[in-house]
Amino acid sequence: MAAIKSAIPTRRFDAVIVGAGGSGMRASLQLAEAGLNVAVLSKVFPTRSHTVAAQGGIGASLGNMSEDNWYWHMFDTVKGGDYLGDQDAIEFMCREAPKVVYELEHFGMPFDRNPDGTIYQRPFGGHTANLGEKPVQRACAAADRTGHALLHTLYQRNVRARTHFFVEWMALDLVRDADGDVVGVVALEMETGECMILEAKTTIFATGGAGRIFAASTNAFINTGDGMGMAARAGLPLQDMEFWQFHPTGVSGAGVLITEGVRGEGGILINSNGERFMERYAPTLKDLAPRDFVSRSMDQEIKEGRGCGPNKDHVLLDLRHIGSETIQKRLPSILEIGHKFANVDATKEPIPVVPTIHYQMGGIPTNIHGQVVVPNGDGSQKVVNGLYAIGECACVSVHGANRLGTNSLLDLVVFGRAAGNHVVAQNLKQKENKPLPKDAAEFAMSRLNGLETSTGSERVQDVANDIRAAMQKYCGVFRTDDMLAKGVEEIMKLDERRKHVSYKDKSMVFNTARVEALELDNLIETAKATIVSANARKESRGAHAQDDHPKRDDENWMKHTLWFSEGNRLEYKAVVTKPLTVETFKPKARTF
Ligand SMILES: Cc1cc2nc3c(=O)[nH]c(=O)nc-3n(C[C@H](O)[C@H](O)[C@H](O)COP(=O)(O)OP(=O)(O)OC[C@H]3O[C@@H](n4cnc5c(N)ncnc54)[C@H](O)[C@@H]3O)c2cc1C
Repeated sequence: MAAIKSAIPTRRFDAVIVGAGGSGMRASLQLAEAGLNVAVLSKVFPTRSHTVAAQGGIGASLGNMSEDNWYWHMFDTVKGGDYLGDQDAIEFMCREAPKVVYELEHFGMPFDRNPDGTIYQRPFGGHTANLGEKPVQRACAAADRTGHALLHTLYQRNVRARTHFFVEWMALDLVRDADGDVVGVVALEMETGECMILEAKTTIFATGGAGRIFAASTNAFINTGDGMGMAARAGLPLQDMEFWQFHPTGVSGAGVLITEGVRGEGGILINSNGERFMERYAPTLKDLAPRDFVSRSMDQEIKEGRGCGPNKDHVLLDLRHIGSETIQKRLPSILEIGHKFANVDATKEPIPVVPTIHYQMGGIPTNIHGQVVVPNGDGSQKVVNGLYAIGECACVSVHGANRLGTNSLLDLVVFGRAAGNHVVAQNLKQKENKPLPKDAAEFAMSRLNGLETSTGSERVQDVANDIRAAMQKYCGVFRTDDMLAKGVEEIMKLDERRKHVSYKDKSMVFNTARVEALELDNLIETAKATIVSANARKESRGAHAQDDHPKRDDENWMKHTLWFSEGNRLEYKAVVTKPLTVETFKPKARTF
């Protein structure tokens, strides 16, 4: 067995960004174009980052199809998030949206077009005109491959701006100095097993989500919550992790996503009686109600025996009436997914679908500039110097308790750009790197060495699969006090088992088993944060549907959860109800 070297090389940058998805590459572009020396690390080739899978669109009130404005977008986002989102951040995002979308257009992003040459926009769940009056077309789309178009556009611009990419490099842990400031990361080159310290004046986490803590997920295998794991191990809190979005239309049995854009283009959900059941649950928005609402309605239909198939365990998504020509033009990938994953020709047969884990609303807490913030102990919060978080791993919080479709791609570019601008404004070129602590790599290396030398009897995949099964079982679409309490117990047992994992063939060369073992440490932190936070929240809000506490409780629970790994401790912080310039949107009953 080859031991990991103790003295490891160091490279110095102005900024290190962990993650080459939409958020990481939007931030790196801002920095590299300003002349900063920027390193971007990614576990996969940048254009294979999970953003590439985004299908339906990016939200912006361009008003190309009918009247629209940022204020209506803001209202939909606040209401869609069940009033848990911070209204200052939401106002900022919705106001910035048209600007960042036009910027992407000017970067060369190939959006679909209207006959007059403007960007085509489709309807999406929860997008309305005039404060909920009727659906509006706000999702700017590049067919059903919007994320692919976005990511390739950003990658090309970054290559031109001379961003340094470290491809198939996995960040292991943060380096913090005696003041608690972040001064870089320790990373592992996956191919060779060599480690390096990437020293930086600013570190930005853009590591994406952790959908792989659940068994049935629309997320890529690399979405193991590494940013959250690294933050938790560094003593930082995770915010609102109880809120996980189930997307209504994952292909039954496969989990692969069918974009909400299908319903935007006119697709409808039907039960075993052939009934368009969403008309009963959401008379105005019907199939285009927000995702938490549609997922719960589907679950209800299945529970009440109106599910489809031999096991009555799914419903059907019917596109047939849209017509073959529109489907081929606007939804070509969906046609392919129907063939490959459900064995149906979607122009002739409906697609079997079930609610499937899709997106985490929570993450590493940040302010509006993307700076990571922690509580001070007196109700105020302070910035962690040198550390930012953006994209799905961050919680600004613009999505509150439930994200609206197309608001994630928007979040990536708005806050990726904002974080980039904030870093640029600090004139990093004029500043020295803070000295690295002597034991900079010690924590990460001892974790790695521990795994390398472990003779434990647990297999990494067994523990990872059991985490996924437990989260799926105890923390699903509908939750109860008993299930969540049992879930906490199970996840804590798995945390113990995780300490005894070992894997075969510890050679220094490319070793996916080593990477999976390292990812396991991140999966468990994210799972603990989720189940402990969910167990504590005794109300139903957005994606957190608690059968024993079926109502939203604004008096006691309109607050953000902060979970700390040490001791599984919880704290709470106030929701920012005051927007930047307009009146507060006061909580109301959520009907659609
Ligand atoms: C199937 C699907 C369809 C979607 N469609 C839409 C849509 O139409 N509209 C919308 O708004 N949203 C959509 N979403 C959500 C949206 O795509 C994601 O939330 C978003 O792309 C996440 O982007 P990100 O930049 O945060 O991270 P990602 O794109 O997930 O990138 C994460 C990056 O971090 C890197 N990384 C992770 N850990 C490490 C580590 N330890 N070391 C080094 N690198 C690391 C990865 O390699 C990757 O480069 C969709 C999601 C899914 C699953």
